Amino acid sequence: MTAYDDLAAHIAEYHDLLCILNTLKWDMRAMMPAAGAASRGNQLATLSKLAKSIFISDETAGLLDAAEAEIAGADADSYQARALRQTRDAYEIQRRIPADLVGRMAALGPESEAVWAQAKNDNDFARFKPYLKRMLALNLELAEAIGYDDHPFDALIRQFEPGMTAARLLGIFAELKAGILPLLERVVAVDAPLPFDLWAAEYDLASQKKLCHELTALIGFDFARGRLDSAPHPFEISFTRDDVRITTRYDANYLPMSLFAALHEAGHGLYEQNIAPGLTRTALTADFLGQYAVGGASFGAHEFSSRLWENQIGRSREFWRLHFARLKARFPQQLAAADAELFYRAVNRVRPSLIRVEADEVTYNLHIMLRAEIEMALLEGAIAVDDLPEIWNAKMQDYLGLKPPDDRRGVLQDVHWSFGGFGNFPCYTIGNIMAAQALAAAQAQMPNLAAMLAEGDYQPLLAWLTENFYRHGRAYSTDELLTRVSGEGLNPAPLLNYLERKYNDLYGLS
Ligand code: ZN
Repeated sequence: MTAYDDLAAHIAEYHDLLCILNTLKWDMRAMMPAAGAASRGNQLATLSKLAKSIFISDETAGLLDAAEAEIAGADADSYQARALRQTRDAYEIQRRIPADLVGRMAALGPESEAVWAQAKNDNDFARFKPYLKRMLALNLELAEAIGYDDHPFDALIRQFEPGMTAARLLGIFAELKAGILPLLERVVAVDAPLPFDLWAAEYDLASQKKLCHELTALIGFDFARGRLDSAPHPFEISFTRDDVRITTRYDANYLPMSLFAALHEAGHGLYEQNIAPGLTRTALTADFLGQYAVGGASFGAHEFSSRLWENQIGRSREFWRLHFARLKARFPQQLAAADAELFYRAVNRVRPSLIRVEADEVTYNLHIMLRAEIEMALLEGAIAVDDLPEIWNAKMQDYLGLKPPDDRRGVLQDVHWSFGGFGNFPCYTIGNIMAAQALAAAQAQMPNLAAMLAEGDYQPLLAWLTENFYRHGRAYSTDELLTRVSGEGLNPAPLLNYLERKYNDLYGLS
């Protein structure tokens, strides 16, 4: 055994613990009766603590030192060298985060989330305010522990998207707004209701379920190494590439809910299922900062895959030209008067709305920018928690031309801040940008890709994504992955081109 092998064996065991944590989380969110919450919370806390103590132990330090000495001078670009650097970085950061701070955040989280849920229900921001203030203070402490050069937000986003900073994000946001706001204005000016409301009818859940299985299998989700279940908040989680769980949510009066959530989560699942088998139980399939077994390069990179399959493929005209017949076969009465084009238009209608999770492709990123800008200003101390409802509503007016009638549909709508998840929102926009860049690169490298997709042959695209993105696990950063296929890092231009092309066509704009 070499020193590197010794470290790898140690990491493999730690990785097993992270997969067990994932198993408990999957069960909690997809299967567990509500009454199990308290005991599951204890189990998760105990196992997390145990895992962290193993990761930051002197044993890890000794193994790391020896492995670094052994491969010093070897190819700095190799998977081994990359795995080692990532393990070292995470080790140093985890050592700097005091156990006491982790404990205080973990203790406040569930209580804060419960108060938030009640406050949202009662439209009572004042009730949630003290908890948000405490969570903000804890996040500032966390940012100091992680460390940053310019902005505390840089430390927090590092947990999800290494390499991203507040300054760089603000530049990306400015470019996005300059493209999206005028497009939205032109769309809103001509938008009109569709001839009839497709969702007025009831769509039985058993048939929806069969469709979700069919569509996710069609794009390549491997059911021999995965499952599709239902969950109130759809998610994907994996316990190695050979056991990947996805979930969706069913609504008898809103068919697109289950279909697009299933395609979205299957997009996450395809990433995990196509990671190189050799990376199983290694540093390149674990997020050591989040103590989370995950193979995607970052949270943003994971959203790239889910959004690519959900939106660029799943909401395309070609997709429904081909597969609308499947829907109609399952729902002949409900869809009797509809055709593929009407369905395509119904699932792509653009309208400014109050709620992020219901937003269309054009307005979605505006919801994200609003949140990220507020987080940055809160962390800087430029704005106060007390003023959040007014600030939120003013930004909604600026970006979407809407005034939330209450805080329930405004500043209280998302759960993230209640459990302290600062720095996470931009990953959705990073994913959207990356999806457009990746698909543009795929089209440039495979001239007949559009024809293959139009025929329902998704395998070549999946193989290309596997070769260039999925198989590498966490070896490369978002920017590195994109540079390898397109010659440049994250760039919003292809996303703006995609939105312009699609919605100019859909709305008959020039
Ligand atoms: Zn997602």
